Amino acid sequence: MLSLRNNHITELPHSIGKLRNLVELNVAGNQLRWLPWELLNLVDGKLVNLSIGPNPLLQEFQQGDTPPSSRWRGTRESESPWKTVYVASTPRTFFNLDGSVARTGEQVPTTTASATPSLFELAIQTCSDTIPMAELHKYLPEDTPAAVDRAFDFARAAAGERGRACSVCKRRFIVPRAEWIEYWRFKTPSLSFEHSTHPFLRRSCSWKCAEPA
Ligand SMILES: [Zn+2]
Repeated sequence: MLSLRNNHITELPHSIGKLRNLVELNVAGNQLRWLPWELLNLVDGKLVNLSIGPNPLLQEFQQGDTPPSSRWRGTRESESPWKTVYVASTPRTFFNLDGSVARTGEQVPTTTASATPSLFELAIQTCSDTIPMAELHKYLPEDTPAAVDRAFDFARAAAGERGRACSVCKRRFIVPRAEWIEYWRFKTPSLSFEHSTHPFLRRSCSWKCAEPA
């Protein structure tokens, strides 16, 4: 059992999805606006008791509404139809290599989107694997470009989360290239989950991974 109740937490780490043997999780009474998408791994695992409310979760989408993008339905439903059901998705926000916003919408910004990591991303990844993030500033010159500075901010955040993995292809990444919210409903008649629709944050390593299935 893991209780994070009443801790003023604003975001749960995505690595919480690795706690596959967790039976009971209580995140009630925090400042969460969404849940990490990887939490659904636990719902599909051994978790039998999950307490979420109260939290200021995004509520644009209510149970019973018509899903705005039903073509997204079913990516996980087929794996475990009795526990989690996809309901809807917000438009994606696409980011440039340095983490700045490229555009928002359903369509990937370019038709030649690739899932191959950029050299920039690989360089940042290698740095974060070999240099302790807290000491990084010692190695950077004073005229470090703002984009590199920003990338290292992402690297520090990723290290704080014990690494980030693409929610589509599972590859490690430092700078997210797209993010969106998916609403999922727990369908668990025999278990003590809360029967409602909740927002889950998805992040991808590339624009390619954020393409509609
Ligand atoms: Zn990916």
